[in-house]
Amino acid sequence: MNIILFGAPGAGKGTQSALLVERKGMKQISTGDIFREHIRQETRLGVEAKSFMDAGNLVPDEIVVGMVEDVLKDLGGQSFILDGFPRTVPQAESLEVMLQSNSLKIDKALFLEVPRDVLIARLAGRRVCTGCGATYHTLVKKPAMAGICDLCGANVEQRKDDKEDVVLTRLEAYETSTAPLKAYFTKKGRFVTVSGVGETEDIYKRLIAHI
Ligand code: AMP
Repeated sequence: MNIILFGAPGAGKGTQSALLVERKGMKQISTGDIFREHIRQETRLGVEAKSFMDAGNLVPDEIVVGMVEDVLKDLGGQSFILDGFPRTVPQAESLEVMLQSNSLKIDKALFLEVPRDVLIARLAGRRVCTGCGATYHTLVKKPAMAGICDLCGANVEQRKDDKEDVVLTRLEAYETSTAPLKAYFTKKGRFVTVSGVGETEDIYKRLIAHI
């Protein structure tokens, strides 16, 4: 079972993907995580992507598509979750070509629907472990020791692009470029909208009902 998990920034794609990885043995392909790893390692791709990401803009399609293509080639038959890709209609069209040439298919495109005020509250309070990527929230999920990850002991910080002004740019990029994918996937079939509001476990149950 291969799925696309999509939704606005803060919809919970990363949180739900982590559960699917842990409980269903799926592989998470998060383009945001891959970019952040490239930035950490200061690769050429990381340098190319960084200025777009820091400003809250989308990285150009050709850069993202090339990166995903490399990952898809190396899957070896494992079920996967596309988390944060595709984010534009041209990316979705390129994905179709890449899937075909690698004899792969997407079984479902799942849309996590979350109202804008909830997205903003989630992103403003989100803190992320710089070591293992575990996510926290200043109000609803604090680490036991302030600023220190419960799981690996590394520092927990705010992502640069979770700062308020950048969040607004990211939401705008979502509305302009990513939201049109709802119509695209609806036309293709296999598109399901799931409410992304509420407790993590409840959202997971709603998602898993379609997987
Ligand atoms: P995310 O972790 O999914 O919120 O992504 C963080 C940032 O990485 C986004 O704001 C974009 O700048 C960039 N990014 C991730 N995935 C894509 C994509 N599919 N297309 C363009 N930019 C992306």
